[in-house]
Amino acid sequence: MGSGSWRRHEEFDRKTLKIEGFVYVWSSKSNEFSRKWVNLNDEIITFSKEKGSYVPLYGSISKHFKLVFEDLLTLEMIIECFNNKGKLKNWKFKFNNQAEFLQWSEICQKITRPKWDDRILSKTCKCCEKKFTTFLRQHHCRKCGAAVCKWHSTTRISLPELGYFKKVRICQNCADFIK
Ligand SMILES: [Zn+2]
Ligand SMILES: [Zn+2]
Repeated sequence: MGSGSWRRHEEFDRKTLKIEGFVYVWSSKSNEFSRKWVNLNDEIITFSKEKGSYVPLYGSISKHFKLVFEDLLTLEMIIECFNNKGKLKNWKFKFNNQAEFLQWSEICQKITRPKWDDRILSKTCKCCEKKFTTFLRQHHCRKCGAAVCKWHSTTRISLPELGYFKKVRICQNCADFIK
């Protein structure tokens, strides 16, 4: 076992979930798109007038980051999250080209994924409360992040809104909810 590999818990390091660049941001006040330098760093979005200007026009700190709409044809996407006043808001972005759109889309989908239940602290299955052991291993639901046993995570589905295009493991609670 390589050093540190046992520590790796999430499927990726959330610190890598960042992107920045010029994006057209819709303003409902002026009813038009305006070009802004947008920095997205995990769940924090800042907007500024120009590159390198780190005075944010809006700071949006989210505990509820969601990519609610995306359209590759119009190159538009809508992100839902809390703004710096604690209000749930939608941000509509428009991109210059498909390549940029796809880069941002991939990062946004990954940010939308739930954080996994802590591996060490989660000692029992969320569904049946059986204790995890060497023989009853802990797994994680890709839809809600819950730690569950293999018997309560038998369903596999794709979750394209979270960037899972192949089938992935979900828990029994999420499977029941979808049905
Ligand atoms: Zn279980
Ligand atoms: Zn779940």
